Amino acid sequence: MNDALAAVWYALAEGRLQFRTRVALERHQERLARGHLRWVAAHSPAVAQRFLKAGLGLSQWRELPPTGKAEMMADFDRLNTAGLRLSDVLALARAAEDHRDFSGQLRGAAASAFAGQAVTVGLSSGTSGTQGAFLVGVQERQRWAGVMLRHLLPPPFSRSLLRSQRVAFLLRAEGALYRSVQSRRIRFTFLDLLRPVPDLAAALTAADPTLLVGPPSVLRALLEAGAQANPERVVCVAEVLEEADRAALEAGFGPVVGVYQATEGLLALPCRYGTLHLNEAHVHFDLEPLGDGRWRPIITDLRRRVQPMIRHRLDDILQLDDTPCACGSVARRLARIEGRQDDALVFADASGQPVTVWPDFLRAALNRVPGLREYRAEQSAPDTLWLLLDPDLPPIRTAAAAEVKAALARAGADAESVRLCFGPLLPAPPGTKRRRVLRRSVPVS
Ligand SMILES: [Zn+2]
Repeated sequence: MNDALAAVWYALAEGRLQFRTRVALERHQERLARGHLRWVAAHSPAVAQRFLKAGLGLSQWRELPPTGKAEMMADFDRLNTAGLRLSDVLALARAAEDHRDFSGQLRGAAASAFAGQAVTVGLSSGTSGTQGAFLVGVQERQRWAGVMLRHLLPPPFSRSLLRSQRVAFLLRAEGALYRSVQSRRIRFTFLDLLRPVPDLAAALTAADPTLLVGPPSVLRALLEAGAQANPERVVCVAEVLEEADRAALEAGFGPVVGVYQATEGLLALPCRYGTLHLNEAHVHFDLEPLGDGRWRPIITDLRRRVQPMIRHRLDDILQLDDTPCACGSVARRLARIEGRQDDALVFADASGQPVTVWPDFLRAALNRVPGLREYRAEQSAPDTLWLLLDPDLPPIRTAAAAEVKAALARAGADAESVRLCFGPLLPAPPGTKRRRVLRRSVPVS
């Protein structure tokens, strides 16, 4: 079966995975987990060893001590079930990025479960810490495309499928994955983020997409550069989606929805009401409390076999919404993806104890500063916060300082002991992920 047909098949199958009770959803997950873990433990020495080391049987998977990106990369060769070596994967992925050609694939090793099969390779952007390498098999890619189509094309799905769709993706380094659903009815245009903004704006206007997918900062820059498009849906990925950006994109392009997609998996998708639901039909989520109503996900992907994700801890900070959604789905609702764990700032309170200041606090404070177009707040030392401002003018500095000090105090930090430094915000290199609030690797004392 070719990729486009397979994707449509998966998209249709997705219609049967709408659960009306939590019990039914959990029963479905448990059933998937049983078969999946048996297969994974038999083919991935790294996963089998984790169970052995913890003294747990496969049925006790929910208690398995979580793992993370650093461990995943360290044990890459024994984790993946296609017999691929990290050195080969990195060499291919870097060559693809250098040449802006993402058609490159590896073949599963002869003795592996995926012998001779194509495996798509990707790198995570690696803005901090370890860079991640990711492998996706043919079926996994087709299913991914199907699930995306099902949830992103405007409902009802059957009618969307009958019309021809033009999808424009503004993304870096994931072309091969997205191109997999090219067909007569669905045309994909991949716009490389590293091209100059005026070129990209013209290319976007020419593509005339019915579905437009990209990071909100880039979409907004293209809008401001004069790009014209009237897609049925604008899909924001890869960055925190803030209200100001959503409003501007809705006014300029059309209805905006978000998708929570990482190289670790397809984690949340919008329903027809635009609500983001966790992708619980395919991924099991355990949530670790971070305090203040914030959670950190530990995912168990119940489908991925080439590079299993079993009790894998992500760096993201999530806020949930407990109210039921009008669409009737029982998959949990995401209120916000606030950023990554290392976007949370840590200052001292009056007695010198560390206090977490969530990125949302600072974003809300700086959004109130009149005349401030763009900014970055960056903690560079335990007591130092840089505010890089555009425009960087004296009255804006004064207003920003007052708002930020008030926000720090509200968060419980000793605002007087925090040194504020100012500077102009310089344009980011093309293709980089926008992070408005971040902490440089500051030791938490
Ligand atoms: Zn919903």
